[in-house]
Amino acid sequence: MNAEQFRQLLVPLSLPWVQAAARMDEAAQGILLAVDDKGSLARTVTDGDLRRALLQHSPDTLTLAALPSRAPLVVGETATLAEVQQLLGRHGISHVPVIDAGGKPIDLITSRELSQRIWLSSPHLGEEETAFVEDAFRTNWIAPLGPHVDGFERELAAYAGIGHAAAVSSGTAAIHLALLLLGVKPGDTVFCSSLTFVGSCNPILYCGAQPVFVDSEPETWNMSPAALERAFEWAKREGRLPRCVVIVNLYGQSADMDALLPLCERYGVAVLEDAAESLGAHYKGKASGGFGRIGVYSFNGNKIITTSGGGMLVADDAAVAERARKLATQAREPAAHYEHVEVGFNYRMSNVLAGIGRGQLRVLEQRVAQRRQVFDTYRKELADQPQLAWMPEPEGYRSTRWLTCFTLQGKGAGARRDLVLRSLERHSIEARPVWKPMHQQPLFRGAPYFSHTTEGDVSASLFEAGICLPSGSNLTPEQQARVVEQLRRALAEDRRATA
Ligand SMILES: *Cc1c(COP(=O)(O)O)cnc(C)c1O
Repeated sequence: MNAEQFRQLLVPLSLPWVQAAARMDEAAQGILLAVDDKGSLARTVTDGDLRRALLQHSPDTLTLAALPSRAPLVVGETATLAEVQQLLGRHGISHVPVIDAGGKPIDLITSRELSQRIWLSSPHLGEEETAFVEDAFRTNWIAPLGPHVDGFERELAAYAGIGHAAAVSSGTAAIHLALLLLGVKPGDTVFCSSLTFVGSCNPILYCGAQPVFVDSEPETWNMSPAALERAFEWAKREGRLPRCVVIVNLYGQSADMDALLPLCERYGVAVLEDAAESLGAHYKGKASGGFGRIGVYSFNGNKIITTSGGGMLVADDAAVAERARKLATQAREPAAHYEHVEVGFNYRMSNVLAGIGRGQLRVLEQRVAQRRQVFDTYRKELADQPQLAWMPEPEGYRSTRWLTCFTLQGKGAGARRDLVLRSLERHSIEARPVWKPMHQQPLFRGAPYFSHTTEGDVSASLFEAGICLPSGSNLTPEQQARVVEQLRRALAEDRRATA
């Protein structure tokens, strides 16, 4: 419901019944919010209330004030979605007004919208996944490994223009293997983007190595070349260059590889490209994921394409992919009797899931177009909102807009961000803050951190002010309109509060 539609619901207690009935019709929500002369909510009025009153009174003498009184069921601004749901369920009602601290109605939540939750990023299957999975059943290739695993690896490598691929059970598993393949050992240091999901850097700890976090730049939200340079200078002074640099491509957009890669080369340090969020993106015409010695994708349920859970390690060097496959299957030596000389893992992708992946890969380009369209809709529909700054997409980049993200401009963004999120959440719209940077996580307390400039911590401010909107490729135009409508109201509220 937009602000105008909400205003239509507000009526004075002194309103005659006949006019109330007309307004009820017009507003078409099945409810009115009757306010006293101070603007506080006095009661809710439903179709049923009016009908029952009519049976007992003559309509021309009746105002809303004369209806049998009853305290309205309401929630405050800080009510959680669960509390709202409970109230609706317990009383069998279909609307709950939200009131502010002064008792004024500021919002109305309907059970209809709560039953139609809008997700941040939900799986979106195409036409062919079932056929691949059925084929796996029919041929009894339910065991891990099998023709779909090989097919998925071949097809993904071809799509991304990278020599070889190894399908594994998750993006995190792929990063773990990649670090091992790059020779990361206990006591080593590894540089990593700070603004990311923890899956990028948990594997650094699996290896017994120590992360050093690198800030973002404002232009791409990805690793800052200036911060990386200072991190290298520090590491050189300390006589302890990192074993590798994990460069993350956030929210469907590549990092600025032309600025980052030469720095790593100058210090002779290998790059692991965490492209978990950027499958389908391009940087200067080349597919994201192919810029490092090793690249990694994720097919977790919220990613642009999914196998319900899975990952892929890609490399131009066939030996790297081959070794990844070996480590992922318990590091089994080629001998019938299961010979082992090194530690391995059970990280391979199953043939059934690879079948889903092959079907998903066929619709990847469509998914990119659909997500970009979702972003364009938001940007167009909210173009008049002064406090929004969308995640930039520099010239020469093709972001997939895996998630549509923006930052709130102006002071006190952190608290304001939470109010906007809360207002979306109570309408069952799943939005999220931008990733909390790793250098601010208790898990990594004490890890060295290099910010973009000596005084400016870019990832911290993106976290403070940033919001990710529902961005799934399967969002209907109606769902996108609902997000726009609620966000507009939350932003208007934000402007009133900060004015
Ligand atoms: C999703 C994600 C991962 C981990 O992938 P999983 O398949 O969930 O293990 C790693 N890095 C980033 C940036 C991610 O978004």
